[in-house]
Order: sequence, then structure tokens, then C-alpha cells
Amino acid sequence: MDCIFCGIVNGSLPTELIYEGDQIVAFRDITPQAPTHVLIVPREHIESVAALGEAHTPLLGEMFLAAQEIAQQEGIGETGYRLVFNCGRAAGQSVDHLHLHLLGGRKLGWPPG
Ligand code: 5GP
Ligand code: ZN
Repeated sequence: MDCIFCGIVNGSLPTELIYEGDQIVAFRDITPQAPTHVLIVPREHIESVAALGEAHTPLLGEMFLAAQEIAQQEGIGETGYRLVFNCGRAAGQSVDHLHLHLLGGRKLGWPPG
């Protein structure tokens, strides 16, 4: 299987990890859309939100708590940030390995494009 994020998780695609947890890693997006743009990614290959099951509940908790901690580290914990899961092509998902976008450091528009 040719998965970019599996490659980053297993080290075959060298990428600086800014956070490592039991079930997740986080690294900066290669095409940042904001001053802080971090991807929080499970070590396990899961295609998208649509492929989640009840057994993934602890993983999701870990992803959100990591987001909270990284936001603090990035200095945007108080000013605010956005967490996004794109699910499926119509929503803009381009990498089929679950990832939570953490975006902040500028005023973010709403609704998203
Ligand atoms: P999606 O569009 O699936 O919601 O988000 C995928 C994100 O992964 C995009 O924001 C894209 O810039 C980022 N991305 C794609 N390939 C790589 C890569 O090789 N390294 C890093 N750090 N980010 C990547
Ligand atoms: Zn993968």
C-alpha cells in the first residue's frame, strides 16, 4: 500500500514530528494554510472519519487532547484555532489516512470554502 502518512509514521518518509503519542504523531503540513498548520495522524492506517468505529473512541480522545496541547505550544491556545477533518473528496480530503488539521495564527474565515 502506498500511503504518504503511513510512510511518515514508519519513518520511511523523513518528517520532523512535533508530537508523539501512544497512538498518534503530529507534524507540520507541507503546504501550510495558516501560520500554524499541523496534522495529527493516527499510527494506524484508517481511511477517513467514515471508517471509524466504536473501538476508535480512545484514539479520537487522544487526537483532540494532542490538538489542545499543540495549540498551547504554538501560542494559539487562548487566541483560538480550528480543528478540521475533511471526509471524502467533496470535502477536500486528498490523503486517505485519517488526519486532524490544526489551523491557527491568523483570523480564519467562515464559512470555509
Ligand atoms: P486533506 O486535503 O486530505 O484534508 O489534507 C491532506 C494534507 O496533507 C494537505 O493539507 C497537504 O498539504 C498535506 N500533505 C500532503 N502530502 C504531505 C507530505 O508529504 N508531508 C506533509 N507534511 N504534509 C503533506
Ligand atoms: Zn496510511
